[in-house]
Parts: sequence; structure tokens; C-alpha cells
Amino acid sequence: MGRVYNFSAGPAMLPVEVLEEAARDMLDYHGCGQSVMEMSHRSAEFKAIIEEAEKDLRDLLDIPDNYKVLFMQGGGSQQFAAVPLNLAKNGVADYIITGQWSKKAAKEAEKYLRVNRIASSEDKTYSYIPDCSDLPVDEDADYVYICENNTIYGTKYKTLPDTKGKPLVADVSSCFLSEKHDVTKYGILWGGVQKNVGPAGCAIVIIREDLIREDINPATPVMMNYKITADNGSLYNTPPCYVIYICGLVFKWLKKMGGLDEMKRRNEEKAAILYDYLDQSRLFRGTVEKASRSIMNVPFVTGDKEMDAKFVKEAAEAGLVNLKGHRTVGGMRASIYNAMPKEGVEALVRFMKEFEEANL
Ligand SMILES: *Cc1c(COP(=O)(O)O)cnc(C)c1O
Repeated sequence: MGRVYNFSAGPAMLPVEVLEEAARDMLDYHGCGQSVMEMSHRSAEFKAIIEEAEKDLRDLLDIPDNYKVLFMQGGGSQQFAAVPLNLAKNGVADYIITGQWSKKAAKEAEKYLRVNRIASSEDKTYSYIPDCSDLPVDEDADYVYICENNTIYGTKYKTLPDTKGKPLVADVSSCFLSEKHDVTKYGILWGGVQKNVGPAGCAIVIIREDLIREDINPATPVMMNYKITADNGSLYNTPPCYVIYICGLVFKWLKKMGGLDEMKRRNEEKAAILYDYLDQSRLFRGTVEKASRSIMNVPFVTGDKEMDAKFVKEAAEAGLVNLKGHRTVGGMRASIYNAMPKEGVEALVRFMKEFEEANL
């Protein structure tokens, strides 16, 4: 089988050019006679890799000088604990619940501070983003937490909440680098990289310097300590070197493609192909309110579980894989991150049309 169009929510597709370059570098990285997987994380070669990755990320996002970039292990879920451990001062935080990932984050945070759930879209199965223009933000809140793009339900904030001056912490795992985030609007934006950036095993935390403190909960594990990570340039211990290297290649690929404004244009174009079809299909329909639609994760259903299963199976046979919806939602979901080419979305819509013809 040749390469398939992989619609998985994560780990997800990587750009072919990146994989080809990694393959060329595999046995002998830039003439040093070894692969990136084998080299010391203290070597000059790896130092250049991590420094260049950070520089390219800073260029892509115009990250201001008063923000640090941290490469941390533990994927996305570790940040659910790291955020409250590092940010708790008054011991209160406000969470907006728009799906499983913010729900899990709030539950984990509750181990370390008092959590207010100040808004939620649970009443309609998380199919929309609540109005966040005038929230009951706690006077003592150390931060306001959101999951900006809801990977499972396929919703995305189109405007960020008014946090009434409190630092905004955003999990951007599934929309990271899909467009140019305005970093200055966040206290922290962090993302697990395996959705839109690289292989699993790392989270990138972009944090405003004044939020990095020494006087934090003394029980905080060293591996989750933002100050120690920042002071050591993300090299307190052996980092996930190969993951960071691939992320670096993806950053270069994004720059070559024209940067994040161009990625946004492409992503919107891809998403429109799929949504336009869903809006006029007689068999399939999207599950999310239009105003809250994600351009990264697109859930849809036929309304008939057996028909959904038949579709997922036949699509996979046609080289369109991992279209099954999340186990908590059912139906289908197409994740169309940066590395999914327009041709992949066009192939999916073509297949959906044929399936609709054959099954209606
Ligand atoms: C996948 C995902 C996570 C969890 O990432 P892991 O690396 O699997 O822990 C957290 N938040 C969002 C929005 C995600 O999509």
C-alpha cells in the first residue's frame, strides 16, 4: 500500500517532505556519522537543533522577548497538572469547560487548587463555544483556562474570552500553528505536539516570563517545574531529542510554505471544501454549531450507527483512514491538520459523494 490519507486526530500526518528529510538524515546527520536518535543531548549538533527549533518557532509566531519557550515531556496531559502547580498563588483558578480535554484539565487541577467552572457547553454535548464576553471571573483567580480547539467535538473559540485581566492559559494542542496565534493575548499557550506539529512525546509551553515563579508548591515534580525547565533551556534532563528535531523540521517546512498566515488560508480552504459538502449532503451532517466550527477537526454523522460503521470501513479500504469519531461521541471525525493536503480533503469529499449516491 502507498501512503494513505490519515485523518487521525493524533498522532497525525506529518509533511512528506519532513519525513523524507528525516530519512536522508537517519544514518548520518549532517556528516556527524550518527543519527539524531543516538547523539548526546549535550552535543554541539543537538544544541544547534534545539536552538534553531526555538528560533524558527519564535519567527513563525512572532513570540515577544518576554515569553519563554519550553520543550517539556509528558505530552499534553502532563500540563493539566503542571499549569496549576506552577501558577497557583491564591489557590483559585477559573475553567471554561468545552469538552473532554478541558474537563480532564479541571479535574486534574482540582488536586492542587480550587477550581471554578465558570462556563460550559455540556448542555448541548459541547457542540458550541459559550459566550465568554462577560464571565464571572473570580477576583482571586490565578488564571482562566480554556481548551482553544476541541479536538473531540470539533469546536474552536473564534474570539478569546474576556478574562478581566487574569492570565489566559490555553491548551492549543489541536490548533497549534494552524494559524498565527497572537501570543501577547495569553499568559500561557501550550500544545502537545503530536496533533499538528510532530511525533508524540513532547509539549511546547510558551509562557510569559512573569508567570515563571520560584515560590511554587514545593511538591511540584522537577520535571513539571517551569522555572527549572526555563533555567536549563529545556535540558534539565535528557529531552525527547528526536521529537524536538522533527518539530524543528516542521517549523522549517511551515516557513517554506509561507508561514502561518498562509497555513491559515490553506486550512480554511480545506475546511470549507468539507463543510460546504456537509451542508448540502442528504446523508451526512456536521454536529457543531456553524459559528463554533473548528477548521482542524470536523465531526459528522449519518444518524445511523450501522451506516457510520459501514462508511468508516469502506473509506479505510479506499485509503482514507482513521475516520472513526472519538469513542465518547461516535460517528465520524476528519482531522485535517496542516500536513493534510487539499487533495486529501478532496478525495474524502469525492468518496463521501459516491457513498451517499450508493447508500441513499
Ligand atoms: C490530544 C490532546 C491532549 C492530550 O495530549 P496527550 O499528549 O495525549 O496527553 C490535550 N489537549 C488536547 C486539546 C488534545 O487534543
